[in-house]
Amino acid sequence: MAEKRTNLPQLHLFNSMTKRKEPFQPIVEGKVRMYVCGFGHIGNARVYVAFDVLYRLKTGTPPQNPLLSPLRSCPPPRPPGLEPPALSAPSSLTMAERKTPPQLELFNSMTKKKEPFQPRVEGKVGMYVCGVTPYDFSHIGHARAYVAFDVLYRYLKYLGYEVEYVRNFTDIDDKIIRRANEAGENVTSLSSRFINEFLLDMAELQCLPPTCEPRVTEHIEHIIELITKIMDNGKAYAMEGDVYFSVDNYHEYLCLSGRKLDHNLAGVRVAVDTRKRNPADFALWKAAKEGEPFWESPWGRGRPGWHIECSAMSAHYLGHVFDIHGGGKDLIFPHHENELAQSRAAYPESEVKTWMHNGFVNKDDQKMSKSDNNFFTIRDIIALYHPMALRFFLMRTHYRSDVNHSDSAMEIASDRVYYIYQTLYDCEEVLSKYREEAVSVPIPAEEKKLIDSHHSDFLDYMSDDLKTTDVLDGFMDLLKAINSNLTDLKKLQQKIEQQQKKKQQKQQQQPQKQPEDHIQALIALETEMKDKLSILGLMPPSSLAEVLDEDESELLGGYGGGLSPRPVWRCPKAATVMLVAEIPGGGRRSVSSDS
Ligand SMILES: [Zn+2]
Repeated sequence: MAEKRTNLPQLHLFNSMTKRKEPFQPIVEGKVRMYVCGFGHIGNARVYVAFDVLYRLKTGTPPQNPLLSPLRSCPPPRPPGLEPPALSAPSSLTMAERKTPPQLELFNSMTKKKEPFQPRVEGKVGMYVCGVTPYDFSHIGHARAYVAFDVLYRYLKYLGYEVEYVRNFTDIDDKIIRRANEAGENVTSLSSRFINEFLLDMAELQCLPPTCEPRVTEHIEHIIELITKIMDNGKAYAMEGDVYFSVDNYHEYLCLSGRKLDHNLAGVRVAVDTRKRNPADFALWKAAKEGEPFWESPWGRGRPGWHIECSAMSAHYLGHVFDIHGGGKDLIFPHHENELAQSRAAYPESEVKTWMHNGFVNKDDQKMSKSDNNFFTIRDIIALYHPMALRFFLMRTHYRSDVNHSDSAMEIASDRVYYIYQTLYDCEEVLSKYREEAVSVPIPAEEKKLIDSHHSDFLDYMSDDLKTTDVLDGFMDLLKAINSNLTDLKKLQQKIEQQQKKKQQKQQQQPQKQPEDHIQALIALETEMKDKLSILGLMPPSSLAEVLDEDESELLGGYGGGLSPRPVWRCPKAATVMLVAEIPGGGRRSVSSDS
């Protein structure tokens, strides 16, 4: 048996026999015997990948992507290697004192301007980001939002904040009920299935797990309490089992979006419910319809409206006043507007210090929509491109701007990420011969200056409302410096070898740099590059050799055995695309890892 890892949390697995998660205790200490039924067709990849993830938890083999664990708790175990690097210079370097980060400024959608970020409690940040409604595979718009807030989460942690990051699941909703009825599946099973799919997508994109991921159905009592409080304060009314928020009784309504109440009316697409006192009033509680899941409440059987859940869960986990509330800009109205109204109607002291909203994803300059068939799931894209290429692509545009997705933009992102990893791999290869030797020379002045200025620019850009576009562009100078040091070192070594072979007379000219200068420069440049890629979540979870090899070999296979020139770094897997397309619609096989 390989050496058992220590300091890991107790493994919990959902047991279909007992219908609950249980601590996993093998019959024989240190040994596991596992049987998985086999099937013939390709649609079972989902099943085998799920069990492969479990299998890879074995002590000898680290999971290829340590984030790809279906086993989640709150707070989740932190995968090794993803701790934010310390602010101080790497210990292997004798670098001068590094610049301290400037004041972080974030754009607040409420005040419509950039503001210095000051958390309520010194050193701690409470952040709530609206999550998905799990009734289908997540699309690229979801990737846009969660990568944007993952970058913020990672940067806040890098700055030394302790961040309480809450991201919910709307696991009861009209769309879930409709989809479950169509598929002949129960609502909980369908939503749990797509929650798992969403978590796998997030892991692929290296989005760190939030500290807490609550589900609406786990918070019905808090929702009922909140609605009761709003009614007690005279800001909501019940009508035949429904409860509506009364916008006429809440005078700050629309303070976030800055809309006028009649604009709002013009945008109401659903048929006007004549029972409402004002057509803009929105549902807090919906009376149960025939065949729908329901909960008992003071207003009869029913279920929560959409907006109330985030008011209830943000207050439950973060309190009535917290630091950051985020989501896509399409959520400003009505979702966040209604959320704010509900929270303040119940507890007037309720406040979000900074509202943050990310831009849309367009396809070839057109708004993405399912009806126009220019719509992509995360799976569609990562079947064609490496997930880090998608993350890089999304980060190339500032989070508040709209991203324009096109094949050419994805190819460019893919090439850039390939170039970064290839350069770092070449650097690792060369340095592997020298890592054990103590190189005593200082970092050459030229590289030292470059690294210091890169570090300083990185902090300036990130602290200025997360300017990731400039950060990613800034890597190019470091990569150029690595490549030129690699080339010069190689030439120098060849020259020295020749000189030694020929045993000629002493060198007439001393080269400007000795090999150890290049080595020290490379160590410093590589460290800076990897340090910043880790902060941004762009370092691959497996070794660079594996990442580069895997995709290239798959691609060469696909193109007929290495006859093609250096391929574009992506993995066209037609079979996978088909497979992914088949799973959601038909609900062919329930997924064995559902919990
Ligand atoms: Zn929300």
